[in-house]
Amino acid sequence: MRPEELLCPSPAGLYCRPGRFHIDPVRPVERALITHAHSDHARPGHGAVLATAETIDLMRLRLGENFARTAQAVRYGEQVRLDGVTVRLHPAGHVLGSAQIAVEAQGLRIVASGDYKDVADPTCLPFEPLACDVFITEATFGLPVFRHGDPGAEIAKLLRSVALFPERAHLVGAYALGKAQRVIALLRAAGHDRPIYLHGALEPITRYYARRTDLGALRAVRDATRADLAGAIALCPPSALQDLWSRRFPDPLTAFASGWMRVRARARQRGVELPLVISDHADWDGLTATVAATGAPEIWITHGAEDALAHWCEARGLAARPLRLVGYGDEDETDAPAPAADSEGESP
Ligand SMILES: [Zn+2]
Ligand SMILES: [Zn+2]
Repeated sequence: MRPEELLCPSPAGLYCRPGRFHIDPVRPVERALITHAHSDHARPGHGAVLATAETIDLMRLRLGENFARTAQAVRYGEQVRLDGVTVRLHPAGHVLGSAQIAVEAQGLRIVASGDYKDVADPTCLPFEPLACDVFITEATFGLPVFRHGDPGAEIAKLLRSVALFPERAHLVGAYALGKAQRVIALLRAAGHDRPIYLHGALEPITRYYARRTDLGALRAVRDATRADLAGAIALCPPSALQDLWSRRFPDPLTAFASGWMRVRARARQRGVELPLVISDHADWDGLTATVAATGAPEIWITHGAEDALAHWCEARGLAARPLRLVGYGDEDETDAPAPAADSEGESP
């Protein structure tokens, strides 16, 4: 069997014809395997959804009870037979519940990694490199200029600023699923033990994470006084940084946790005073090290800076194929569309 017979790009996303399923489809399909609950990968309206229990819970939280006709939870490493095809989920290290999907038939093994990172994250299981014939990778940060560095050092920068400006509220823009909770866990690991304040849009997912990872004292910004917020750290979706919402904070200092903060112009554009380079995607070194670790002779690249990574692969004698899948983006750039329940009101 040729790899393209097992898995091929289609307008709805990657399609496995012999197994009759799509991976992270961008339009409603009969059977969908979902790598993780970010909105560009986990969309509503499918017939049957297979994913980790955490991804299913997070989809339910974000999309509501009826996000799919049926949902089947699959454990990491558990073997699932779909028609003639064997499927297994393995940790992707991206966000809670995120999975790579290994698809096998007739001795051929393709791994679709979804979004991933190869660095430690206290809020989810670490990425597991898998030997395969074809490795499918994203390339969000697929340029050599992207080196994320140590997230601990970025958190130290934030805490130094809090110590330096004890009267200012520190408002940190962070994507609602994964990034916000990782920032909180990193702050706790760095010894910050004061209450951390949350924008309403971050509350449901953060509470869900807090059942699995100790995130310390969490409070709603909604219930806080201006005095509470002076010198405090508060997290919000990136789009709220410039909102009227942020006016309730005393002399707010704005930070933004994103891999894109490596690019100074992006920080300036968003009016971010304190850029924090913290990403849930692999950087250039992570992408290339992971590609090498899989030992796959053939690499398919879904989205991002596909050409640079394809070039790197070819220079090493690997076959590389940019898939140019449409409909996937980086969550820090797309920002979470705030569900109705998240509206915060505008007065303090
Ligand atoms: Zn993602
Ligand atoms: Zn993505």
